[in-house]
Amino acid sequence: MTVPHTADVLVIGGGATGAGVVRDLARRGLRALLVERGDYGTGTTGRYHGLLHSGGRYVQKDQVAARECIEENRVLRRIAPASIEDTGGFFVATPDDPDEYVEAFAANCEASGVDCDEVDVPTLLEHEPALDRRIRRAFRVPDGSIEPWQLIESTLADARLHGSDAASYQRVIGFEVTAGRITAAVLRDERTRSETKVWTQFVVSAAGAWAGQIAAFAGVDVEMTPGKGTMLIYNHRMTDAVINRCHKSSDGDIMVPVHTVAILGTTDIKVADPDDYDITREEVAQLVDEGAKLFPDLPRMRILRAYAGVRPLYKPPAADAAGGNRSITRAHVILDHADQGVENFVSVVGGKLTTHRLMAEQTVDVVAAKLGVTARCTTAEEPLPDQHGGATYWLGHRLAEIEQRGGGDADLLCECELVTRPMAETYLDEHWPCTIDDVRRGTRVGMGPCQGAFCTFRVAGLVAERLDASAGDGPADRAEHAAIADRALGAFLRERFKGTRPIAHGRQLQELLMTNGIYTGVLGLDSMAPAVGPSPVTAPEAVDAAR
Ligand SMILES: Cc1cc2nc3c(=O)[nH]c(=O)nc-3n(C[C@H](O)[C@H](O)[C@H](O)COP(=O)(O)OP(=O)(O)OC[C@H]3O[C@@H](n4cnc5c(N)ncnc54)[C@H](O)[C@@H]3O)c2cc1C
Repeated sequence: MTVPHTADVLVIGGGATGAGVVRDLARRGLRALLVERGDYGTGTTGRYHGLLHSGGRYVQKDQVAARECIEENRVLRRIAPASIEDTGGFFVATPDDPDEYVEAFAANCEASGVDCDEVDVPTLLEHEPALDRRIRRAFRVPDGSIEPWQLIESTLADARLHGSDAASYQRVIGFEVTAGRITAAVLRDERTRSETKVWTQFVVSAAGAWAGQIAAFAGVDVEMTPGKGTMLIYNHRMTDAVINRCHKSSDGDIMVPVHTVAILGTTDIKVADPDDYDITREEVAQLVDEGAKLFPDLPRMRILRAYAGVRPLYKPPAADAAGGNRSITRAHVILDHADQGVENFVSVVGGKLTTHRLMAEQTVDVVAAKLGVTARCTTAEEPLPDQHGGATYWLGHRLAEIEQRGGGDADLLCECELVTRPMAETYLDEHWPCTIDDVRRGTRVGMGPCQGAFCTFRVAGLVAERLDASAGDGPADRAEHAAIADRALGAFLRERFKGTRPIAHGRQLQELLMTNGIYTGVLGLDSMAPAVGPSPVTAPEAVDAAR
């Protein structure tokens, strides 16, 4: 899209929070523009654990957060059911969990408004046979799992329906500030490297862990203490419900079933730079050890890959960091930078994906008051577009759709996630130009148990075909396009490979070395070292640049 040069409000950051903010602004009649430096949902929102919190996690230490979670959990089930799998959840007491915590759990849930009922342990073990047989008590709560990219896509669609817009691959690199007001933001297009300006009346930073960097462009201080959380993806759903340990929050104590896999998390380690961190083997080992207290066979189950996201933790000026990152508030904070001399600039930091809509509502309340807009917030009542008649997501839905069309040759690209060629082509039609990783986020291609062993190459083929169609298809063009598709493929495989290195040992390490040999020796990729810089975009601009 061509980026508009003016907007009533410029929203920075295309995660769940920024998407929620632009939707709310649009519904209140403001013409907003959201800009994101990469694809939507490539910050923390696309690298989180996948849990639609019931609030149970917070009932003991933060009843306000618990109440917000359960209320927003109900709102999201109403407005965004297509992004939610209603897995349900359990808090289970292992022999290691303290009696006082377990005894008080149901009463704390009641005090925070979180629905909770104690269930019979043998019955639970019948339904969840992989759980430790020594579980002592179990409480059912309305946890779920929630798909971030589909949520953002529908949220932005609603914003567009109401006259606002969003642009991806647009990085904010500076502001123009005159007499205590931001008058314009300078953007750099990450595909073409061209720069442009957007003039605006107001700026909202929803840049998560990067909020400090954005604030600095306006000469404002926002101190973030990004906390890295690592998670492990297992190759099957050893549980159908979310399983949490019934104890004070710690590492490796939640398993979330997400589509065809299950994810164990997390850790919480302070990092200096939200763009530069490693996942260590020690973290992986620690997660497996802790997770085995819930699922004793975990050390023998196959991990597909590790990944990490960075919590947007905000450190208020007076905060004492002595307690480490787990002691810093998970609550969200809206910072009005008029206090620091910039009148038309707010940042929204912290919080959870589950509470993103509420964060957006409260942020837009501040913006609307400053701009003299009186329209009230409607985002909790009105469903997002494309909600499939209000039904929540269920794992079998793609198979059911294929069978409805008569089954047979379904033209599958990705056997694990049942992504068909028409689905990938529709995504490419709607989002071109894009990377293979963008297609992954949009369709889940390559996210299942085989982690893209076959489908990745098929998508690279589609990309090359599309380049031929959009930029000439003489023999020289086709060779050029194949080379671009290869580079995109290499970037994609290296990114995937990054997540398998920390988990590889024994037989899996041997397999990994063999895969590496196939990619570098047979397929001619130069190296499987992690990619430096952004993944190449398979765009017509890239074709021009290559000429
Ligand atoms: C390990 C982990 C597990 C979690 N698990 C859960 C969970 O299970 N359930 C839950 O509810 N919450 C969970 N959370 C919290 C939740 O993921 C985050 O609070 C939420 O996703 C933050 O969304 P956001 O939109 O505020 O930030 P982000 O998603 O990080 O969005 C900020 C965006 O700003 C963009 N940006 C940065 N700089 C610029 C720039 N210069 N120009 C343009 N754009 C820029 C970034 O690319 C990014 O996309 C978890 C967090 C972590 C780290």
